[in-house]
Amino acid sequence: MSAQAGRLWVVATPIGNLEDLSPRARETLRSADVVAAEDTRHSAPLLAQAGSRARTLALHEHNEREQAARIVEHLRAGENVALISDAGTPLVSDPGFRLVRAAREAGFTVSPVPGPCAAIAALSVAGLPSDRFTFEGFLPARAAARRERLQALVAEPRTLIFYESSHRIVESLADCVAVFGAQREGVLARELTKLFETVVAAPLGEIAARVDADANQQRGEFVLIVAGAVGEAADATLAEGRRVFALLREELPPARAAKLAAAITGAPRKQLYEGGPG
Ligand code: SAM
Repeated sequence: MSAQAGRLWVVATPIGNLEDLSPRARETLRSADVVAAEDTRHSAPLLAQAGSRARTLALHEHNEREQAARIVEHLRAGENVALISDAGTPLVSDPGFRLVRAAREAGFTVSPVPGPCAAIAALSVAGLPSDRFTFEGFLPARAAARRERLQALVAEPRTLIFYESSHRIVESLADCVAVFGAQREGVLARELTKLFETVVAAPLGEIAARVDADANQQRGEFVLIVAGAVGEAADATLAEGRRVFALLREELPPARAAKLAAAITGAPRKQLYEGGPG
């Protein structure tokens, strides 16, 4: 690769408050030859604020494959390209992964300019366990598919992070209550870094009731965080331990069967021995 090879910069931009554009992000946008943006009209004020005079190129879900090839040509010509999305970190529930992959496969360096991300901003103020979490992005729009997705997460012990829009927040909260139970702890983070920023930490049933009762709380952009399963997950492991114990018990003495079932499933040996059949 030549010394003048272009580089692809993946630049995080504010999720509401323009002051959150980092000095490095500003400089990267200012010095880029080309800025690939999800919606070039939406990004125009930000680019103006950053003093960027780069050519802009629209890259969205529906044209990413073709645009990625075009952008690789810009990189080959030695140009610096910055990728931004409408808000936050590109590729996080936003386009860009095909471009990143294409640029790397063509031998170009891809560098992040990290910054705002709604999921991480919400997690940082949630007050829920954050040592392990799973980002679930947007739930499916169709009710049946949405419930199925939630059902698959019911025993997930890690903290769950969802994105949601004003169109579906009421339905999604109702489904979370139905699947996870009204008592499961949650945090609803709305309009982070903006004028009407609201963070509600409460059991899911209470969050759903509050949002139902107040049309203003249904407006804007949301991150919904749901505490991971504690009891349910433990129950599922114990149930599996008992099932394996019962099978082994047909061939082995109880103490030996319990020891093996515990080793296989991770369930506590003592509870299998005492609670299991035989
Ligand atoms: N790439 C972005 C990021 O890094 O967060 C996310 C883009 S995704 C298309 C848009 C969704 O992010 C919104 O529907 C909402 O769920 C969440 N979001 C974005 N900005 C937000 C904000 N200021 N407050 C709460 N949620 C926000």
